[in-house]
Amino acid sequence: MSGGKKLYSQGQQAMGKSKKGIKVDKADAKERTLRFFPILRKTYPEAKVSLNYVAPLELLIATILAAQCTDLRVNIVTKDLFRKYRKPEDWINAQREELEQDIHPTGFFRNKAANIQKACRTLIEKFNGQVPQMMEELLTLPGVGRKTANVMLGNCFGQPAIICDTHMIRLARRLGLSENSDPTKLEFDLMEVVPKEKFGGWTTFSHCIVFHGRACCKARKPDCLNCPIAGYCPSANQPELW
Ligand code: SF4
Repeated sequence: MSGGKKLYSQGQQAMGKSKKGIKVDKADAKERTLRFFPILRKTYPEAKVSLNYVAPLELLIATILAAQCTDLRVNIVTKDLFRKYRKPEDWINAQREELEQDIHPTGFFRNKAANIQKACRTLIEKFNGQVPQMMEELLTLPGVGRKTANVMLGNCFGQPAIICDTHMIRLARRLGLSENSDPTKLEFDLMEVVPKEKFGGWTTFSHCIVFHGRACCKARKPDCLNCPIAGYCPSANQPELW
């Protein structure tokens, strides 16, 4: 940990603090990330996407359902849902009211049902019923933004993907990796800071951050005293930066 502490104090000097929070120095952020990423990986060896799925279509639907809802609740709902609807045609042919009822516990069920049916229609009309494997194509699906597209690319198609969810937005700021909370700007910032392939690369980093956000660096009160990467974090024990 002594090396980490040294690096942290260097980082603090290099970054400094602005009135809004930490001022980020990308070179410093990159160097610290190379140090703390392997520690996160070792701490959370089981880190992976927490939505249950078998096929890409299931992960696509589960990710749409996960907006403003916990993964736990989505998994409860999809347990029966994925037995009832299997192919894009099944989702399209469902009565809208019945589908809304089926996904009701995930919230925003009207929008989600509409997006699921529109997305499945696009899959059939443009992609031969298959979930496409390119960012640009995924973004043409209704209800699919960069976060969902990255979830698909990273988990189903083995492509390095930075997933900017609520945990990533919070932890990237606390860890002094980016000053941006806009998910797209943050994603591009992190591409420069996080190793694309090393230690499991962008996708593994994304999963580790979610696990760390849930287990330790929680939204209301991060547990800095027991944090394994506190030596590399400029916000450690500094409530004004949380
Ligand atoms: S030291 Fe505190 S703020 Fe920094 S990552 Fe750990 S828990 Fe979060």
